[in-house]
Amino acid sequence: MARLEVKDLHVSVTDEDKGVDKEILTGVNLVMNTGEIHAIMGPNGTGKSTLSQAIMGNPAYKVTQGDILLNGESILGMPVDERARKGLFLAMQYPAEIAGVTNVEFMRAAINARRADDDQMPVMEFMKLLDEKQEILDMTDEMSERYLNEGFSGGEKKRNEILQLMMIQPNFAILDEIDSGLDIDALKVVSKGVNAMRGDNFGSLIITHYQRLLNYIVPDTVHVMMGGRIVQSGGPELAEKLEDEGYAGVRDELGLDV
Ligand code: ADP
Ligand code: MG
Ligand code: MG
Repeated sequence: MARLEVKDLHVSVTDEDKGVDKEILTGVNLVMNTGEIHAIMGPNGTGKSTLSQAIMGNPAYKVTQGDILLNGESILGMPVDERARKGLFLAMQYPAEIAGVTNVEFMRAAINARRADDDQMPVMEFMKLLDEKQEILDMTDEMSERYLNEGFSGGEKKRNEILQLMMIQPNFAILDEIDSGLDIDALKVVSKGVNAMRGDNFGSLIITHYQRLLNYIVPDTVHVMMGGRIVQSGGPELAEKLEDEGYAGVRDELGLDV
């Protein structure tokens, strides 16, 4: 079992226009183990993507207080690639396009980076795994052979992020608004992929603005984020309550002014 812990995390970003730092995360606490799926819901601009970037180690997001621990070890000093090798994966809200690197090359490199030099994945094994996962996601070889996300539609990018997830098999995956811009059929395919990953060695933090995704990927725990911190946690029923009452309901109930 692996464990990811976020402790009293405060994160600032630099406002380029004003040249000043502003605090976005104001003390996030979160503990998750492999085998669990957690969802974070919250209004736009509350810091959900900031949390995912800080966990993954994007240097634009400065940790000013608190810690992020993987299996009890602080990962704050580690660059993104080291965090990835340690088993963290981020599917971004806006996946980047990278010319000159094909999807296949990217996935092979990512898989092998997590394995010892004398234990690299044989090509045949890789191709077999790729076929298997593409089939679950209704994807073709043609997409995998294209440059990373280049010319992909929004839905194809999201599907491709899930393909990477299924190939790389990280311990923890943060899925940032993987549902945004997906029609219902694409949403089902993406959910099928994530559900296929469920198991003792896999944990996921699913960030979403809407409850709809959580009908397909049923989380163990739901957290509500407001004003840069988690203000409420509960079971899947919390997502339904949010759908009915909106974020304003939570705000009123807790007497928050965020
Ligand atoms: P959410 O994902 O919940 O919609 P974000 O984490 O994207 O929220 O953004 C939270 C706040 O931080 C917003 O006010 C946003 O403008 C600001 N922010 C996020 N990233 C940056 C950045 N790289 N530079 C400047 N401001 C940022
Ligand atoms: Mg947003
Ligand atoms: Mg976001």
